[in-house]
Amino acid sequence: RKVIVIGAGILGASTAYQLAKLGAEVLIIDRKDPGQATDAAAGIICPWLSQRRNQAWYRLAKAGARFYPGLINELEQEGETETGYARVGALSVHVDTDKLKQQEERARKRLEDAPEIGELNMLTSQETLEQVPLLAEGYHSLQVSGAARVDGRALRDALLRSARHSGARLLNGDASLQFTGNRVTGAVADGQIFAADSVIVCAGAWAGPLLLPLGIRFKVSYQKGQIMHLKAADQADTGSWPVVIPPTDQYLLSFGGGRIVIGATHDNDIEGYDTSVTAGGIQEVLNKGLELAPGLADSTVEEVRVGFRPFTPGFLPVIGAVPGWEGLLAANGLGASGLTMGPFIGSQLAKLALGLNPDIELLDYDLGLAIEQQI
Ligand code: FAD
Repeated sequence: RKVIVIGAGILGASTAYQLAKLGAEVLIIDRKDPGQATDAAAGIICPWLSQRRNQAWYRLAKAGARFYPGLINELEQEGETETGYARVGALSVHVDTDKLKQQEERARKRLEDAPEIGELNMLTSQETLEQVPLLAEGYHSLQVSGAARVDGRALRDALLRSARHSGARLLNGDASLQFTGNRVTGAVADGQIFAADSVIVCAGAWAGPLLLPLGIRFKVSYQKGQIMHLKAADQADTGSWPVVIPPTDQYLLSFGGGRIVIGATHDNDIEGYDTSVTAGGIQEVLNKGLELAPGLADSTVEEVRVGFRPFTPGFLPVIGAVPGWEGLLAANGLGASGLTMGPFIGSQLAKLALGLNPDIELLDYDLGLAIEQQI
């Protein structure tokens, strides 16, 4: 089967990777838009502390986290060792130990059907500082040993490389859909027409304009996030530091070579696809970051990345065939946890495109809820 995947963020890259491994003839078309969410994402994989009540969301996030170790192992066996993934654990920090105990209780209840959470330990403020020496004094923490961090860029690239090794083609260009009647027949990019049995739209924040020529109004909104990369001086072993989740909405995570990431903002009132780095954004990230980790004051600012988190109605992802159309599938709305869920959702999209049974209840992620047909 010939399949075209439009978009090569974490979702498109994962989908293409799985399709190529299942033997499909795959063409990936990506426009490399500035603001690609995957390119800017922090990379925390720790869905089990979330207080969100939506069970369909939790099931997807949980399945996403569970999917990772097997995927990384598979990639490594294919020679892709630079995935940016490490199960470094997470510390949920708080000055109030009662709050941490409540979190621990919640997480313990979830342990039974998510053993991948690993061990849950309460750390004293001293033990917390030993784990991440740059933090302010006085934070106690709940340690979640199964949590991980992943470098979205590195994983996306490893997936794409591996997909290409399995025969997929990757084209850099602006794709639009080809259709006759209610059947999508392929895509156009770079002035060339590519035919396919199915097209899968993994276009994140840009899916709306792509589907509009079909008379479909696709309800995807997006939230801008600004996130700062610092280089901490004189810190060894940052690559094995746990992810730090404070009570504010901004976190701290570390990669090798002294790279520390803080942020990100949640900017809702933006015009178009505005990727500018704003003074207010930087101020917020630095205020929250330095309050959490005053030891970062001497670090060097390396870059600020900007990305658009894609959201669909109810802040719940949508996955499946586009109703009323043949040969057209999509997933979207991965929101603030798309690195967690993306690889798993990609595996589901690949199955759907090849007529295999998915492992999830598709009705829970009904694509129809994000669609208004205009004609
Ligand atoms: P994207 O990564 O945005 O990719 C969409 C791609 O489609 C783009 O490359 C675009 O160019 C392409 N495209 C669109 N239209 C076309 C077209 N017509 N032709 C060709 N190509 C097209 N998630 C977590 O799990 N943990 C985190 O810690 C985390 N932190 C985050 C921090 C920030 C600051 C941000 C912004 C996001 C974060 N996320 C996190 C969320 C996660 O990054 C996103 O949910 C996820 O990356 C979305 O992936 P995607 O593939 O759907 O979209």
